[in-house]
Amino acid sequence: MHAAPARSSRQTEAPKPGISFEFFPPKNDAMAETLWASVQRLAPLAPDFVSVTYGAGGSTRERTHATVKRILEETGLKPASHLTCVAATKDDTDEILRQYWAMGVRHIVALRGDPVTGIGTTFEAHPEGYQGSPELVAGIKAIGDFHVAVSAYPEKHPESPSLDFEIDLLKRKVDAGADRAITQFFFDNGHYYRYMERVRKAGISIPVVPGILPVQNFRQSASFATKCGTDVPAWLARRFEGLEDDPETRRMVAAAVAVEQVYDLLDNGVSDFHFYTMNKADLVFAICHMLGLRAEPVAAAA
Ligand code: FAD
Repeated sequence: MHAAPARSSRQTEAPKPGISFEFFPPKNDAMAETLWASVQRLAPLAPDFVSVTYGAGGSTRERTHATVKRILEETGLKPASHLTCVAATKDDTDEILRQYWAMGVRHIVALRGDPVTGIGTTFEAHPEGYQGSPELVAGIKAIGDFHVAVSAYPEKHPESPSLDFEIDLLKRKVDAGADRAITQFFFDNGHYYRYMERVRKAGISIPVVPGILPVQNFRQSASFATKCGTDVPAWLARRFEGLEDDPETRRMVAAAVAVEQVYDLLDNGVSDFHFYTMNKADLVFAICHMLGLRAEPVAAAA
């Protein structure tokens, strides 16, 4: 007779995890339609907040603003606006923050951002701007009592000399007032677990929420991962092998892979997840369903 296997959280009535969704501002009408269809499909899952990215170099400032505004006006969701230090003076950034506060935005994702000269080149802060993410976090908190999220890199940022440097920088962001961190996406949970051990040892106690990227397209995700310094394990490539011309099976495999990842995280005590939706709802909706989340009546806009 076999011993009964240990029950994992997926087999018990575990408390529902906290979730948040990330979107990017649309570039045209067709993309706007896709985005809004996705927002509407995911809204009944009652996320803690939905975040809207800020294009490299501040290139989407108006579009980010318009998307956040529409979320506030047309849904009951709490939008979190991403904001970077790139190509803006402190006065410009503070003005944007005051506008957000006046609109009713209470969540900001505070980032240094990528160099205007492109990823891989040296970051040069605007001489009159915030010089880095810790300073930006402090500036945001000085303007209003925003809930501030910052980035975290379990496999270290490509510019970072070491994980110790990375964790020290996270600590500086926390000391400046950050309320939570959201990680860069990763596929091998081992990186996250090892990183979290070091983060907690460093005395950082804020939630460090794993960022989950469902693999909508393996080739694209793998190439993006390489740029971000994210490990693409051989087993992951193997699961998508031979499916280049079979989008339907690819979607099923993608859902299975992501569900496996979030279940393992749940089993290891993770209670919050941030999903990089790429403005598409189906995969994320399926994963959330498997996490036990069900549609709730949608709250009207405030
Ligand atoms: P930080 O965590 O502040 O720093 C990143 C790295 O820069 C450090 O690890 C270190 O290597 C180096 N560094 C920082 N300060 C110093 C210092 N004082 N001395 C030496 N080296 C230093 N980008 C966008 O353009 N728009 C977005 O909306 C956006 N959203 C994101 C959301 C999340 C959850 C994540 C994880 C990333 C996001 N990014 C976004 C990408 C991010 O802007 C880039 O990775 C950028 O290069 C770093 O910004 P950061 O705030 O993560 O930087």
